[in-house]
Amino acid sequence: MSTIPAYVAHSATDALTLGTIERREVGANDVRIDIQWSGICHSDIHTVRGDWGPQPYPLTVGHEIAGVVVEVGSDVTRHKVGDRVGVGCMVNSCGTCTNCEAGDEQYCLNGMVGTYGATDRDGTVTQGGYATEIVVVENFVLRIPEAIPFEKAAPLLCAGITTYSPLKHWGAGEGKKVAVVGLGGLGHMAVKFAHTMGADVTVISRTLSKKEDGLRLGANHYEATNDPEMFSRLAGSFDLIINTVSAPFDVDAFLGLLAVNGALVNVGAPAEPLSLRAGNLIGGRRSFAGSMIGGIAETQEMLDYCAEHGISPEVEVVSADNINEAWERVLASDVRYRFVIDTSTLTK
Ligand code: NAP
Ligand code: ZN
Repeated sequence: MSTIPAYVAHSATDALTLGTIERREVGANDVRIDIQWSGICHSDIHTVRGDWGPQPYPLTVGHEIAGVVVEVGSDVTRHKVGDRVGVGCMVNSCGTCTNCEAGDEQYCLNGMVGTYGATDRDGTVTQGGYATEIVVVENFVLRIPEAIPFEKAAPLLCAGITTYSPLKHWGAGEGKKVAVVGLGGLGHMAVKFAHTMGADVTVISRTLSKKEDGLRLGANHYEATNDPEMFSRLAGSFDLIINTVSAPFDVDAFLGLLAVNGALVNVGAPAEPLSLRAGNLIGGRRSFAGSMIGGIAETQEMLDYCAEHGISPEVEVVSADNINEAWERVLASDVRYRFVIDTSTLTK
């Protein structure tokens, strides 16, 4: 075991504080990573605040990790010391169920092991990326291409793959009209990907305050839910809507924006249940679906796609002692468009 500096949550309500966590020794298939950049995802806040249920405090969150390999186990073949690598929302899965075999480790039938707050194979609670080091089995470690600026790579490991995967799955591309609801960390990546894939992209935000940004990021149109005519004007318009909103939202109103055969895909994960009227699905053969991150191979594909197409998130770098303030700003939707912690500031 080694003891390393980390930012730690002690309850659902207290501020995070600088403390320490333990990392296991490097096993035969493990890689030890010196974490350099760690993204702040809204899921970190939902988790610690108890929106999704009770948590095993003390807990260190963070599942957008970019760093350098500093040690490898004796059987490791995929990574070597000095490589730039990333870790996302999961650090293990059974590897043998039908979903793992299909490359959908995130849907492992025996339960994938989340990067934080999950029970690891050795019975300990996993601790995430607001820390200086992590030890992960090599199959769950991704390669970060040189073309991606290092401090911008971390958010791709969650915000990137969570939007890339459903856009690919539901066929965003030329001739398709795609709407992205909510222009935050996930939303701004969805806009970049959908634009690069060739779709006609509309942002639907609450107001027009971020319109200039949305168009610069690649949107063709920008709409606001505070426009009372928006839902009638755009009724039946979209082939695909990706909802990234972190709060409850009006599913029926957005279903009305779908064309026949259209799909409303929810990636936002609010604490409260969502409801909808069956008639809004039946009338128009519409689908209401969800999607969770992406598999390991698809995450690597996404990173390579970003390198090839020059895609990276817009980030604001924060030091460790600004993490609590950054969380408040995420909750206030005052993020342009992802906070990334410079973990060199995490010193005891
Ligand atoms: P974020 O940066 O805070 O963005 C969320 C956006 O939702 C905001 O920018 C805002 O957009 C909109 N919004 C926030 N509060 C709202 C409210 N009360 N009413 C209406 N709209 C509101 O969060 P994020 O990191 O992108 O994460 C978004 C959601 O996805 C979270 O629930 C997170 O847990 C979830 N998530 C899911 C997965 C998955 O695998 N499915 C992965 C990662 C994250 P506007 O200001 O433009 O209106
Ligand atoms: Zn996340």
